[in-house]
Amino acid sequence: MNAADASVSDRLRPFGTTIFAEMTRLAMANNAINLSQGFPDFDGPDFVKEAAIEAIRAGHAQYARTQGVPLLNQAIAKRWAEDLGIDLDPDEQVTVTSGCTEAIAASMLGLVNPGDEVVLFEPYYDSYRACVAMAGGVARCVPLRPEGSTFAFDMDELRRAVTPRTKVVLLNTPHNPTGKVFSERELLAIAGVCIERNLIVISDEVYEHLVYESDQPHVRIATLPGMFERTLTLSSLGKTFSLTGWKVGWAVGPSGLSRALRSAHQFLTFATATPLQHAAAVAITRSDDYVADLVSRFRQKRDMLLDALIALGLKVFPPAGTYFIMADFSDVYDGDDISFCRRLTEDLGVAAIPPSVFYQQKELGQRFVRFAFCKKDETLLEAIKRLQGLQAWKVRR
Ligand code: GLN
Repeated sequence: MNAADASVSDRLRPFGTTIFAEMTRLAMANNAINLSQGFPDFDGPDFVKEAAIEAIRAGHAQYARTQGVPLLNQAIAKRWAEDLGIDLDPDEQVTVTSGCTEAIAASMLGLVNPGDEVVLFEPYYDSYRACVAMAGGVARCVPLRPEGSTFAFDMDELRRAVTPRTKVVLLNTPHNPTGKVFSERELLAIAGVCIERNLIVISDEVYEHLVYESDQPHVRIATLPGMFERTLTLSSLGKTFSLTGWKVGWAVGPSGLSRALRSAHQFLTFATATPLQHAAAVAITRSDDYVADLVSRFRQKRDMLLDALIALGLKVFPPAGTYFIMADFSDVYDGDDISFCRRLTEDLGVAAIPPSVFYQQKELGQRFVRFAFCKKDETLLEAIKRLQGLQAWKVRR
């Protein structure tokens, strides 16, 4: 181990550099089309940008309240009231964070004691395990396995993952990277375990609006009976408004859980960029037309990439939500996902994510690849053109 590696704390050394930074760097070095890190290559809506410019001009330049600018807290609470009929106290039950990534870290640091166990579904978003480790917790993973054209978990495996040390279940729906939208039936089953074993749920719902099938709507676990009082629901502006670099997120939950999250948030970032919070309040209040249009455009992009991947011989899992497609490449390539993604980037000029980094049991992810389709049509068309090179890779069996 060299001196630089040795200086990284024991807690974080196992996690290395996040795959998103690594693949984007590799994409740039190879002039590849970047379908790896999930960010749009088009701009967010003008009405939100204008609101940020106005907020800067109006002099909203000093620290915000640590729990958020009142206007934004109120806008988030109002949305919950309109959509779900739940009245929230905007000052006590809504906390604005620097993106959902900070909300994940703050909730882990605010809730988990050293030795406490946190149940994750694998594949999981890569920061989850790192945040559990930062809090001194222990991750227990329940696999989502391919089942037909989607992914599913086994209730017995979930029950077995819960021990007397379990404090939190970290859920993500719509799910990155599989695109799965957990059904109400599945959420009721998870809720049953959480109530029976007195567990807290952290529910990362950043893709809440990016759902494509009317028979698979997004359901918030916090709205199921007995669940609001034990759930922190996390979301953000980035995915819904194609503003991933603004880093405005939030957590909604009962006062006690919100206080736990805030106890860490105040020392992590103290508060989030003030003018962007003003703009976020405008975005949330006037979002409906914009979001409906974005969803229909994403649906077309999803279908375009799905068709191309199927034609190339990959087995796809059509996502009901998110802007990612998981595909099984084992009929096209014999190696593992890391070598597949490296060759795809270097030889064909298309970067994608090797999902094994999202698994504790790496072998469960080694024949999959994740593509992001939140890109301009011309970007996707060029990627599809380059992917035709896969035809020469076909495995001869
Ligand atoms: N959520 C995005 C993805 O899954 C990336 C986030 C990041 O780069 N930290 O691709």
